[in-house]
Amino acid sequence: MPRIGRKKPESVDATVAIPGLFVTGTDTDVGKTAVATVLVRLVVAQGIRVGVYKPVASGVVYGQAGDKERLWEAAGRPLDAAAVCPQAFAAPLAPPHAARLEGRSVDEELLLSGLDPWLKTSDFLVVEGAGGLFSPLSENLLNADVARGIGLPLVVVDAARLGCIGRTLATCLAARSVGLEVAAIVLSHLHEDHGADASTPTSAAAIASAGAAALAVRLPGVAVTILGHGHGDFTPTLDWLALGRLSAGR
Ligand SMILES: [Mg+2]
Repeated sequence: MPRIGRKKPESVDATVAIPGLFVTGTDTDVGKTAVATVLVRLVVAQGIRVGVYKPVASGVVYGQAGDKERLWEAAGRPLDAAAVCPQAFAAPLAPPHAARLEGRSVDEELLLSGLDPWLKTSDFLVVEGAGGLFSPLSENLLNADVARGIGLPLVVVDAARLGCIGRTLATCLAARSVGLEVAAIVLSHLHEDHGADASTPTSAAAIASAGAAALAVRLPGVAVTILGHGHGDFTPTLDWLALGRLSAGR
């Protein structure tokens, strides 16, 4: 197994024993939180206790609702909001850089051990990374390292815009090359598609639809879906509970 981060701390072997999904992206600002919150609401609506976790966040503005609050609300406010994201930094930069600006560093043990409260109180986990799959979370660890440590299958999110096929394929193939399992791909509309529908070939709707079809052909066995801007479900709908149990032994 190739090592991608600069080291592999002991805690990154603590694969969790309950089903769930690790929501990651091709880059930052591609719609991960929109996808994660819709997914969480759909699973909660089935009567499942969903644990929500973001190992570290940056660009966190005090008093403003961010990923932590949005995930917590979607899950029905389980435990307390602080448990959702135990480490947060103010600067809108990669977490290790944002931490350094505060004279701090990202606690690498806590990236994984922060999940512990959720393991005792949840039947299903939804973890949202920070940035893209190969973006750094700490001095030594990338999202991909932490995803491997947690051991949940990935949901790879990309923005429904030109280039989505190439960006998503690159992320999924790289994920597989380091032993990560891709359960699903979501192309997420970041903006309202003002009046243009899929009959206009250059519209976001048409690009997403063509992109989803091309990705399904290139990545057989991976579920591919689209999330419209502000929508409460995916098109097509997916069985997220089943996808969260994909990994061997779940
Ligand atoms: Mg987010």
